[in-house]
Amino acid sequence: MGKVYLTGAGPGDRDLLTIKALRVIQNADVIIYDRLANPDILEDAKDGCKFIYVGKADSHHTLPQDEINEVIYQASLEYENVVRLKGGDPLVFGRGGEEALYLKERGVKFEFIPGITSAIAVPEYAGIPVTHRGITVSFRVVTGHEAAKEKSQIPWENYKSDDTIIFLMGLHRLNHIVQKLIEIGKPKDFPIAVISRGTWSDEKTVVGTLDDIYEKAKDLPTPALIIVGKVVELHKDLSWFEK
Ligand code: SAH
Repeated sequence: MGKVYLTGAGPGDRDLLTIKALRVIQNADVIIYDRLANPDILEDAKDGCKFIYVGKADSHHTLPQDEINEVIYQASLEYENVVRLKGGDPLVFGRGGEEALYLKERGVKFEFIPGITSAIAVPEYAGIPVTHRGITVSFRVVTGHEAAKEKSQIPWENYKSDDTIIFLMGLHRLNHIVQKLIEIGKPKDFPIAVISRGTWSDEKTVVGTLDDIYEKAKDLPTPALIIVGKVVELHKDLSWFEK
């Protein structure tokens, strides 16, 4: 029985892969990867390595999670070194914890290999620091997927603070998210940005206010994240990414 490395691939830019991740990829007998992981990373695998695409998309999964769990488990029965490659970090809305539990219940050894999460790196490539002295002392990373649900688990009332808020999986609920933020009392001219395909060469950053961001950004390509807070104003001075 093999071992499974639940590995973060970083947010897109191939070079944002850790050395530890690179080492397990080079040694892998099989790599099970997602849509969000940069497929160029697979070039680092050894000859004969098998690739299995389980194409997890933003809101709809190509394979349901329980089938993905089973694919990983079956791979561990057949191969010695199994890499489960996921976009960003495997435990930031990556369901890496669920996959690890499934393996553990079946007696399969696993390791987590952290990745650079899009939540921090994508704003960073857009010249938006998630914290900045004198502007904000904390940041939150929230699933936008929850935002539009009738019985949303998001404690909107807590979001009145000056925390930077980063919504992942939120572009399709952008309108709903800005409405909620206005409802809890954020001014309509409060800064917000949508960053599409961050760290990739076709990255796009659209900066606006709660009032106009939906019209400006609703048609951007995914993956995209939403960042809300005064730190967004730093984009005009800190923009640096040359594509
Ligand atoms: N585990 C991943 C997040 C998975 S949730 C991580 O740590 O980055 C998927 C969401 O991440 C997408 O809907 C999008 O909001 C965000 N995302 C991932 N890659 C991105 C990128 N290159 N640019 C913008 N957003 C990205």
